Amino acid sequence: MAVAVQLTHVTKAFDTTLAVNDVSLNIEKGEFFFLLGPSGCGKSTFLRIVAGFYKPDAGELRFDDTVVNDVPPHQRNTGMVFQNYALWPHMSVAENIEYGLTLRKFDKSERSEKITRALEMVQMVDYRDRAVNTLSGGQQQRIALARALVIEPSVLLLDEPISNLDAALRQQMRDEIKQIHDRTNITMFYVTHDQVDALSMADRMAIMQDGVIIQVGTPREVYQFPKNAFVASFVGETNFISGKVKHTSNGSAAIETAIGTLHSETVYHDLNEGTSVQCSIRPEALIVDDTNRAENTITAKITAVNYLGRIEEYQLVAADVPLKAVHYNPGIETKKPGDTVQVAIAAKAIIPLPD
Ligand code: ATP
Repeated sequence: MAVAVQLTHVTKAFDTTLAVNDVSLNIEKGEFFFLLGPSGCGKSTFLRIVAGFYKPDAGELRFDDTVVNDVPPHQRNTGMVFQNYALWPHMSVAENIEYGLTLRKFDKSERSEKITRALEMVQMVDYRDRAVNTLSGGQQQRIALARALVIEPSVLLLDEPISNLDAALRQQMRDEIKQIHDRTNITMFYVTHDQVDALSMADRMAIMQDGVIIQVGTPREVYQFPKNAFVASFVGETNFISGKVKHTSNGSAAIETAIGTLHSETVYHDLNEGTSVQCSIRPEALIVDDTNRAENTITAKITAVNYLGRIEEYQLVAADVPLKAVHYNPGIETKKPGDTVQVAIAAKAIIPLPD
C-alpha cells in the first residue's frame, strides 16, 4: 500500500554543513514527487533520510500517521533505484530481483510469479536468466527498477536513476517510468538535478537550494511562476533584465530597464515604486519580427544564430543587454548575425522578481 510521506522541520548536518535545513514537506499518497536542485544542495541526504540510512538531527518523518524516525531502513518497505544500478553483476536477472522476496519469506512459486510480473512491468521478461553483466546500461536500469518494484514498496525512491543513459534512452525511460507510476500508483520520490526529468514526469516538484526548499508546485506552476531568480534560471532557461519598478497596480507593473519601459501583467510579488527587480523572460517569449500581438517591442541586433533542428536560437543584444530567443519550425526566413530585428514580448510573459 502506498503511503503519504510527511517531513516536519527536518534537519541534518554533517559537521558544519547543513545538508537539509529545517525542511517541511508533504508528499501525498500515490504522488510522483520530485526534488530538484543543483549538485550539493542536499538531495541525496534528503532521500537517505526518507530511506532510513540517515536519522534526522531534528524534526519528524512520518509514513501516513506513523513516525518512522527510529524505524530501520529494512522495515520501512521502501524500494530504491540508484544512478549506478547497484545490481549484483554475476547473478542472473531473476536472482537479482528475487533477493528482496527471499528476505520477505515468499515461497518459491510466489517468488517466481512476482518476478514475472515485475519483469513484465519493465518489458524484460525475455531476459530472466541472463547474467546482469551481459546487459546494456539501459537494460540494467530496467532490472534495478524491477528489483525495487517487486517488493511492492510503500514508497519508491529514485536517485538520479537515468542520468547514466544516453539522451534517446533517457527520454524512453522517462516515458516508461511515468507509465509505471500511472499503472501502480505507488508513491514515488525522485531526486535529480535534471529539470527535464522533473518537468516531464512530476505531479509536483520541490526546488532545493543549500538544504532549503525554495518552492513547491506542479511543473507548470514552477515554470510559469518561479518564486525567485534562482528558480527561474534553474528550471528552464530564462533571460534576466534588471530594472526598477515605475508603478504597479492590480497584478501589473511598468518597469524601467536599459532596454526601455517594460509592461508586465504577471506580478505576484509585493512590488513598490522604486523596487529593484530582475525581469525573467523565457526565450520562447521573445518573438522576433512579429510585433503585432505584443504589448512590448524592443529593437535588437542578432549576434549569433544556432540551428538545432527542431528549434532555432537567436543570440541578441539590445542596449548592451544580451538576450536569447528561441523559435520552433525554423523555416526559410531565417535571420543572420548582424540583422536588426524587432522583438515582441507579451506583458504576460514578463515576470518581475525582487532582487
Ligand atoms: P549531488 O547531486 O552532487 O549528488 P546532492 O544534492 O545529492 O548532490 P548531498 O550529497 O545531499 O547533495 O550533499 C549535501 C551537502 O552535504 C554537500 O555539501 C555534501 O558535501 C555534504 N555531505 C553529504 N554527505 C556527507 C557526509 N557523509 N559527510 C560530510 N558531508 C556530507
